[in-house]
Amino acid sequence: MSSEKSRTLAVVNCAQLVTLAGPARPRIGAELRELGIIEDGTLVVRNGFIESVGRRSHIDADCEVIDAGGRVVMPGFVDAHTHPVFAGTRAGEFEERSQGATYQEISARGGGIQSTVNQTRAASVDELVTAGRRYADWFLRTGTTTVEAKSGYGLSLEDELKLLRAIKRLDAETPLRYVPTFLGAHTIPKEYAARRADYVSLVIDEMLPRVAQEKLAEFADVFCEANVFSTDESWKILSAARCHGLGLRMHADQLSLAGGAKLAAELGTITADHLEHTDADGIAALKSAGVQPVLLPGSVYALGSSRYPPAREMIDAGLAVVLATDFNPGSSPTPSMPMILSLAATHMKMTPAEAITAATINAAYSLNRGPQLGSLEPGKIADFVIHDCDDYRQLAYFFGVEHAWQVYASGLSVTLRSSAALR
Ligand SMILES: [Zn+2]
Repeated sequence: MSSEKSRTLAVVNCAQLVTLAGPARPRIGAELRELGIIEDGTLVVRNGFIESVGRRSHIDADCEVIDAGGRVVMPGFVDAHTHPVFAGTRAGEFEERSQGATYQEISARGGGIQSTVNQTRAASVDELVTAGRRYADWFLRTGTTTVEAKSGYGLSLEDELKLLRAIKRLDAETPLRYVPTFLGAHTIPKEYAARRADYVSLVIDEMLPRVAQEKLAEFADVFCEANVFSTDESWKILSAARCHGLGLRMHADQLSLAGGAKLAAELGTITADHLEHTDADGIAALKSAGVQPVLLPGSVYALGSSRYPPAREMIDAGLAVVLATDFNPGSSPTPSMPMILSLAATHMKMTPAEAITAATINAAYSLNRGPQLGSLEPGKIADFVIHDCDDYRQLAYFFGVEHAWQVYASGLSVTLRSSAALR
């Protein structure tokens, strides 16, 4: 690996080299439309890092040349909200929902998250890693090179640690980068249904200290929602997480306006995620606290809802919007960021350029990876994708298509399928 890394690579003949170069911070307002595109661009990579971007110029003789064939080259997607480690699927519930059952009805009779928890508790770390590798391949082949990865299907001390250890192994054993988040407060497990305060104490007094001590997570997250974790409980858990040095994220205002966005602002979390029901006051609170909204249209689509988060209002208010898949076995079973770009354009009226910024550089900043990832600029890690199109807008326009043609992580090809013929 190391000898292979010590090499120089020039990607030439890029119809559009979409650099996302710009200020060293998340992009807001009109900046979301500025992709820093270089026509007929060349990307030079040395030892896994970007050395230069520009028009075709002199290339060293010892340089390996990759002909992009007049395609679009851009940073790997950074998916800032996923639940990628679990056992089993919920295809049966999906069928029931197609016949009219609601997500809440299915949860109320022990399905939903609890059914994935039951299957995940019964699985070993090895089994979870095997399942997770399959999903890692899916992310990579759609052009995603970094994912934020939540626990939350264990809901006991040992099972939550098991999930976070599986995430750590997937990070080490696959080319996909994982940023781990502890989500012990995903739901109240059934054995604590009658004593929810005890479960909150378990998360605060036992899980958080172990997770921090073993350095198994960078962030903590809570599902703040009516009938899940109240704003009071969420405040307690996230305040404790902060004391352990974890960054804060929050599932907020997904199914109802439950004060999640306001609480996120009060706590100064890094992100507030979902926000389908957030109102103008919530948007103003997020703005004043500098919280990044992470919008998840895949879950709105897959639940058959039409209530998408108010992205335009958020962009107009100056929020540094992020888009993510929310990949999970229940409400959003897609790893595909191009699918999310399509939904953002058709249902949230974001332009393709805004959506790409939200899925790359803004997402990287929301994970504290802005200085290393999310754009193609000298000094950054060479995670990039050659997409089989000659105009970046086609990524959102053609949907249901796998655009990614060649995928690179740290300058190494991680492409997992046979390549299409060059045009
Ligand atoms: Zn989620």
